[in-house]
Amino acid sequence: MNNSSLKLVLISPPIGYLGSGCGGGVELTITSLIKGLLMLGHQLTLVAPDGSTLPDDCSAVEIIHVQGASQQSWQHSAPDCPIVIPSEAVLPKLLEHALEIGGSADAILNFSYDWLPIWITSKIGTPLFHLISMGAVTRVMKTVIEELALWDQQRLGFHTQSQANDFKLAEDPVIVGNGFDLSKYDFIKDKKGPIGWAGRVAPEKGLEDAVDVAMALCEPLLVWGIVEDTKYAKEIDASVPSGMIDWRGFLPTSQFQKQLGSCRLFLNTPKWNEAYGNVVVEALACGVPVVAYDRGGPGEIIQSGRTGWLVTPDDVAALTDAASRATEIDRLTCRRWAEDSASQEAFALRVEAWIKAGMLKNEGRRSINA
Ligand code: UDP
Repeated sequence: MNNSSLKLVLISPPIGYLGSGCGGGVELTITSLIKGLLMLGHQLTLVAPDGSTLPDDCSAVEIIHVQGASQQSWQHSAPDCPIVIPSEAVLPKLLEHALEIGGSADAILNFSYDWLPIWITSKIGTPLFHLISMGAVTRVMKTVIEELALWDQQRLGFHTQSQANDFKLAEDPVIVGNGFDLSKYDFIKDKKGPIGWAGRVAPEKGLEDAVDVAMALCEPLLVWGIVEDTKYAKEIDASVPSGMIDWRGFLPTSQFQKQLGSCRLFLNTPKWNEAYGNVVVEALACGVPVVAYDRGGPGEIIQSGRTGWLVTPDDVAALTDAASRATEIDRLTCRRWAEDSASQEAFALRVEAWIKAGMLKNEGRRSINA
């Protein structure tokens, strides 16, 4: 290890195991960040739910597997819902293990969007950082994040400014974007092909609007992703002629990118303040232009007229019009954007800078209190 390398403990989300798809985009984010941090020479331990796996090129990382019941995802909770931690929950156990190992580490980096790890941050010695993966879903989460920001905002990192805007913050937020192992995404030059959509199949992702565009253009829509809300998926499927939606399921990245790259265009239709939108960058990395609502992360990622088109949120007619102009976009420009702005190396450097600045601030606080 060189002098500036860090010993870090990473906490995986308490929703399913890493590789299950239940954790949404956070799963890919952790994997890319791990690869990037390893390239920078850092020493990593991952604390993750039982069954979690990492790709072969992450073998230098020690994984501590923890058993226990999953948390419910916050994005499907009522705005005023309380904090619920089930009996035999994995969340406190993940934290317990991380704090134990974290005693001899430089810092802990938490990926779980949960009340407990955020609340405990100001009460422990080891610097605990949080890469916040969603906007302000539920009042209790908004409050605990804002309270931590008041104590030390440097402990919080956000993916985009739009996401951070959900919270009342006294200082400019740390924005780290996201990063991808771009060697895993093949650039496809061909401008022909179907229309694609990908994401967790759940109401906040707005699949129904993408289906409306496909209907208006009289062609099927290819859909990838884990069906989180079966009732919602069935209702959409029943509302259109059979075969309109080509359900492709949840695929590993190697297969997903191959099919994604064959698309003429990719639709992204968030109904919530999308924190980032991994699938948008994955499409761009393959050279596929993205037509999306100008809402949340996609509104910051897509350069309208260069790498796709941004339209007024929820305006399906505008989305359809923009979709019919997707071939005007140069596919190589899309790929170049991903290379310049969303590589795993650049992402890891941004995260490293954030953590190191936070550790310095922590040292300052300690010496004042000593
Ligand atoms: N994904 C995948 N296989 C699929 C479809 C999607 O691995 O067949 C992954 C994709 O790579 C992305 C995640 O699902 O990392 C969705 O993340 P996104 O940030 O778009 O949305 P989130 O689920 O976090 O709200």
